[in-house]
Amino acid sequence: MAPTVPWQRLPLGTAPLPAYNPYMATDQAPTLAPLIDPFHRTISYLRMSVTDRCDFRCLYCMSEQMTFLPKSDLLTLEELDRMASTFIRLGIRKLRITGGEPLVRKGIMQFFNAMSRHLETGALEELTVTTNGSQLSRFARDLAAAGVKRINVSLDTLDEQKFKDVTRWGRLAQVLHGLDEAQAAGLRVKLNTVALKGFNEEELFQLIEFCEARGMDITFIEVMPMGDLGNEDRLDQYWPLSDLRKRLEEQYTLTDLSHRTGGPARYMRLNETGQQVGFITPLTHNFCESCNRVRVTCTGEIYTCLGQEGMSDLRAPLRASQDDAVLEEAIRAAIGLKPRGHDFDYSRGVADGQMTRHMSHTGG
Ligand code: SAM
Ligand code: SF4
Repeated sequence: MAPTVPWQRLPLGTAPLPAYNPYMATDQAPTLAPLIDPFHRTISYLRMSVTDRCDFRCLYCMSEQMTFLPKSDLLTLEELDRMASTFIRLGIRKLRITGGEPLVRKGIMQFFNAMSRHLETGALEELTVTTNGSQLSRFARDLAAAGVKRINVSLDTLDEQKFKDVTRWGRLAQVLHGLDEAQAAGLRVKLNTVALKGFNEEELFQLIEFCEARGMDITFIEVMPMGDLGNEDRLDQYWPLSDLRKRLEEQYTLTDLSHRTGGPARYMRLNETGQQVGFITPLTHNFCESCNRVRVTCTGEIYTCLGQEGMSDLRAPLRASQDDAVLEEAIRAAIGLKPRGHDFDYSRGVADGQMTRHMSHTGG
C-alpha cells in the first residue's frame, strides 16, 4: 500500500482553517491539499526575496542608479514569516531566501531564526540562502545555528579588479573572507558563477580549481535577458554553456548526473576530481516541464514563472485578514495560473521573451 502523505488526507476545503496565530497555526505540519498547477506539477519549492536592495551593482543584474522601493512597500519581517509559513503549510518543502542581497535586510536573522521552527517540526526540509557573500563574515555562524546547511554564493571572478568591474561596488577580499567564515561554520558552499563572454572565459579552470581546493561545488549560469531593454548588452555577454562544456572537456572527463532539483540546473561530475558542476541553461534547454517552484518578491508578488511577466499580488490578501485562509486561497489561485513555461530564446539573434524586470526583483 502506498504510504499516506499527511496533507493528502484532507481534500481542499475540508481542512480546519485556524485563525492566524504565528506560533500555533503555522507550526503545524502541512494539513492541506498540496499545491498542484494546471500542468500537474507539484509546487514544493519557494524562492523568497526579502529585499530589493543590495550592496553590489552587478552589471548584468542592476543598473548603477537603481531606484529602490519605498520601505513601506516591503513586507515586514512578521509578514515575511506569515507568508513563508503559509506556503510551508501548503506543502513547500524547500525555502530559499534571496534578494537583492538578503543579508543586508535589517533584522534578517530574526526571520531565519523564526524559520528554524519549521525545520524542527520537519514541515520544512531545507532552508537555504543565495547571497553575494559580502555579509557572510557577520552572519555565517548565525545562519548555521538557524539550521541552514547549504548556501549559494555568487562569485564570477577571482580577479580583484574584474570583481570590482562586474559588481561595481564589491570588494573581493570581503567575499573571500565570507567564504572562509561560512566553511568554518560548517556550511556547505556552492558557487554560482554567471558565464560572461570575454569576461570570465579565461578563468574557467581557475574557478574550478579554486572550488576543488576548497571542497565546493560550482554552478554556471547563462546570462538571462532581464531588466535590459536594449538587447545588445545581454547578447554581447552571452556565453552559451554548451561552449563552456566543450572547454571543460578539453581537461576533464564529464559524467552527466541524472538527479534534478526541479529547477533549471543540470549537473555533471568531473571524473578526475569528483566535483559536481551545475549548468543553469534557461536559454539553451527547456527545463520547464519539471518546474516545481514559485517566487515571491519582497513586496509579496508571486511569480510562478521566472521567464514570464505574469504575477499575482499576495500582499493585499495577506494584509486583508489575519485569517490565513484568505492568503491560502490567493496562493492557490496564483498557482492555478502558472504557465507551462518561459519564452526566452536567443536563437534568432534577438533576446526574444525578454523580461523588463531586473533579476534582483525576483531574486534569480
Ligand atoms: N544578491 C544575491 C546573489 O547575488 O547571490 C542573491 C540575488 S541574485 C539576483 C541571485 C542570482 O541571480 C545570482 O547568482 C546572480 O548571479 C544571478 N543573476 C542576476 N542577474 C542575472 C542575469 N541577468 N542572468 C543570469 N543570472 C543573473
Ligand atoms: Fe546584488 Fe546579487 Fe544582483 Fe549582484 S546579482 S547586484 S549581488 S542582487
